Amino acid sequence: MAVLPSEIIARVKEETDLVELVGRYVRLQPAGVNWKGLCPFHQEKTPSFHVHPGRQTYKCFGCGEGGDAISFLMAVENLTFPEAMETLARAIDLDLAKFLQPGEDEGEKRAHFRANETACDIFRNAWQDAHLGAKARDYLTGRGFHLEVLDRFDLGWAPGGDWLLKQLAQRGVTEDLAMSAGLVRRQDGRGSFAYFRDRIMFPIRNIARQVAGFGGRLIVPGEPKYLNSADSPHFSKGKLLYGFDSTRMVIARARTAVLVEGYLDLIALAQAGVANAVATCGTALTPDQARLLRRGARQVVVLFDGDQAGRKAAVRACHTCLAAGLEAKVATLPRGLDPADLVIQQGAAALQAVLAAAVGYLAFVRDAVAQAGDDRLALEKGVHQVLSTIAAVPDAIRREYMLREAADLFGLTPDLLRSSLAGMPGGVAQPAVAADQTVVAGVAETGRPPAAAAGTATPRPSFRTLTKLHREHVESVLLAHVLQDGSGAAARLLAELGADLPWSTLQATALAAELAAWAATAPQQTPRDFVEQRWHEQDNAYRAYVTDLLAWNIPPRGETERAVRESLQRLRGDRRAQLS
Ligand SMILES: [Zn+2]
Repeated sequence: MAVLPSEIIARVKEETDLVELVGRYVRLQPAGVNWKGLCPFHQEKTPSFHVHPGRQTYKCFGCGEGGDAISFLMAVENLTFPEAMETLARAIDLDLAKFLQPGEDEGEKRAHFRANETACDIFRNAWQDAHLGAKARDYLTGRGFHLEVLDRFDLGWAPGGDWLLKQLAQRGVTEDLAMSAGLVRRQDGRGSFAYFRDRIMFPIRNIARQVAGFGGRLIVPGEPKYLNSADSPHFSKGKLLYGFDSTRMVIARARTAVLVEGYLDLIALAQAGVANAVATCGTALTPDQARLLRRGARQVVVLFDGDQAGRKAAVRACHTCLAAGLEAKVATLPRGLDPADLVIQQGAAALQAVLAAAVGYLAFVRDAVAQAGDDRLALEKGVHQVLSTIAAVPDAIRREYMLREAADLFGLTPDLLRSSLAGMPGGVAQPAVAADQTVVAGVAETGRPPAAAAGTATPRPSFRTLTKLHREHVESVLLAHVLQDGSGAAARLLAELGADLPWSTLQATALAAELAAWAATAPQQTPRDFVEQRWHEQDNAYRAYVTDLLAWNIPPRGETERAVRESLQRLRGDRRAQLS
């Protein structure tokens, strides 16, 4: 997304009813002028999650999560900033396209989604039509699917002939647009024709819930049985996960995703009450899709067919997940059954039992080797397979544990595997990257900053030095004053007297840099507005820190300058004591 002007970001925040928005996820009770409820970001029994309608901010006093409407939606729905903005803007009928600073293909992209969403609507109408959609509905209900579950996934029906072209034209989608959106094809001697004909339609949405493309399934014998929208700049099968737009929240809560291969598999799982599933669009899991999954899941359970092709696909999917920093397990279906068959023939409990029996990736490979005869060749192949996967795991600690487990399973010494690993291409890990990714994962997992973000050794307290905690507190007092001083005098004073001061946490360092940027550019806004408009470029921990400081009760004006000078003196004295 191109850059949005800060006035628009401010307007979206202003016009969004934060209490209403949070209320969709949290049962809120009035508490004075504020509201409180059970925090959606950590487990708790007594409410410590507060919403302040006046300030348009929220804050959890249990886990520290805090921010505004945009960061709330980002956190609770695992959205990026542009995705959250898009969602909120839609809700207040604001068309962000008008405000985007010109990006060349913005218009084309929006047109793509408009065409596909219109088509989705048209396919839905056909599905619900007494005559047109009867065949499709009967076919799936005949296989044991429930209509209300199918409707939940917006299934549609694409009739044959020129029906779609006529409908699209009536709804203002030109033939050229329909073509570039992948809905219509043109051929010499044949003219224009609908790409999907006589197929059950599965809309594939991106994470902002826009229809990016479709999968279409024949219900009569023919080839290909499944047809997907052709890849285009705005639809890429390898970058989207079917169902993720609606199952993401459940996945984020469970920290686990169940991965299946097909659209109907996912719907069958939903029907059996397994709501944390995603499906690839009939292709092998890609690294892009695994990274997408990491936005909610820590672990993936691969649920594939029990035949040899299914086992191979499962190994590949596990490799991709582990290489993306996810933990991976495999649940194996009884031979000859796909997930839909299992659910419909044997019920939800049978599916639960299969999922509960999932084994870790290494044990799964070892088991496959045993089934292949357990001879030396099969064992060697298995060892090489797991070593190539272990080499791709970004986290050094997980790599080491996996290596020891593999040594145990295959009856070799860890030292031997370690030396084999070192000789493999890409087998030498980059510790800096791995460490960094681990920290990021930690933040995403708990939704709060890692403890002691400064990460430096605690200075030994002496009668002149502050303890680390105390120093952090003095810094917070100082920054809270500066942030809340609407006149900007405190920010200018800090820029003048404290420019070279080292800060003890990453959050304080970042905030001080923002305040310095305010002082350097002297914009019309107050320091607080300036900081808030730019805080989406920072992480959760930073926003939580700033929200905290904004909630502090700062004494009335006049005291501010003295407080700032005093705090600076204390920090400077402390610094000198540490250096001496
Ligand atoms: Zn919390």
